[in-house]
Amino acid sequence: MVDHLAVAIDALERGPLAARVQRGAPLGPLTTYRVGGPAAALVVLDRPEDARVLADVLAGCPVDVVVIGMGSNLLVSDDGFDGIAVTLGTGFATIDIDSTTVTAGAAAKLPVVARTTVAAGLTGFEWAVGVPGSIGGAVRMNAGGHGSDMRDSLLDIRVLDLRAGTVRRRPAHELDLGYRTSALAASDLVLSVRLSLTPGDPEAGRAEIAEIVQWRREHQPGGPNAGSVFTNPAGDSAGRLIDTAGLAGLRIGSAEVSTKHANFIQVDPGGRAADVRRVMDEVRRLVAQTHGVDLHAETVMIGFPPEKAT
Ligand SMILES: Cc1cc2nc3c(=O)[nH]c(=O)nc-3n(C[C@H](O)[C@H](O)[C@H](O)COP(=O)(O)OP(=O)(O)OC[C@H]3O[C@@H](n4cnc5c(N)ncnc54)[C@H](O)[C@@H]3O)c2cc1C
Repeated sequence: MVDHLAVAIDALERGPLAARVQRGAPLGPLTTYRVGGPAAALVVLDRPEDARVLADVLAGCPVDVVVIGMGSNLLVSDDGFDGIAVTLGTGFATIDIDSTTVTAGAAAKLPVVARTTVAAGLTGFEWAVGVPGSIGGAVRMNAGGHGSDMRDSLLDIRVLDLRAGTVRRRPAHELDLGYRTSALAASDLVLSVRLSLTPGDPEAGRAEIAEIVQWRREHQPGGPNAGSVFTNPAGDSAGRLIDTAGLAGLRIGSAEVSTKHANFIQVDPGGRAADVRRVMDEVRRLVAQTHGVDLHAETVMIGFPPEKAT
């Protein structure tokens, strides 16, 4: 039987991306939880041509692929990911501003985009200053906060279908952006993002950013975590449900529910993804028991058995 994964990795190592392919690369360091095992191979793309080469290798090849942005919404299994992980390098982190239109490479960091657009006299993206992700990941998740989300300013994206090898511009309305959801598939690699913002007062923007940063410091824990673990059920907050179920501080092994924000889980340095997963499962069980509410994970799970993924 053909080992498609081995064939794909061999092809990558023999081609122009050879220097950008790492077998058995640990994925934990690419995530904000900083736990989890290796990918069969990690490919770091730095130029649009790199993305084309990867797509040529993957075209019609039945291997699992995952895109890693800043890893701020990911939990990677301790067993790792038996497929090809793809991430974008600094060549994809450009930010260009033309009047009120902002074109950002998908690896541009949200806080940098927020500050850069404010400095350029634009308003509408201040909310993103406290979200430690990439703008590509933010489209996939429809990230948001402080009353806004990506939907409010997204014009369109350029996206590479890693299976078909095609690059398309897709308007925001085609992406079905919902509450932390989008229509993007695991094989869709966002290459760049265009935002439409409005002219604003840089001083007011800087003040709003300072207020958001202060609010985050006061309300959210530092250390290894992936932000909110569960989405908020309609009309309620997952944090409130977890807190009032008495679960703040619940610890299993190396992971614990934050005592500062109950919808955050923190993990000790050198800890285990399995412990985070067990805390998640226990929180869901006890919130369902206490409040009759079934919580849904916002965190994207990588390398976990499908029946356990949420
Ligand atoms: C302290 C903290 C606070 C947070 N606060 C918020 C908040 O207020 N609001 C909020 O919405 N989120 C928040 N998050 C979660 C997270 O930062 C966002 O979801 C962010 O948009 C994820 O971006 P990322 O680049 O880290 O994506 P990753 O975590 O790397 O990936 C998330 C998903 O996006 C996909 N993806 C990543 N890059 C691309 C790409 N270029 N093309 C296609 N798919 C891609 C991945 O495959 C995965 O499915 C917080 C996280 C932390 C750690």
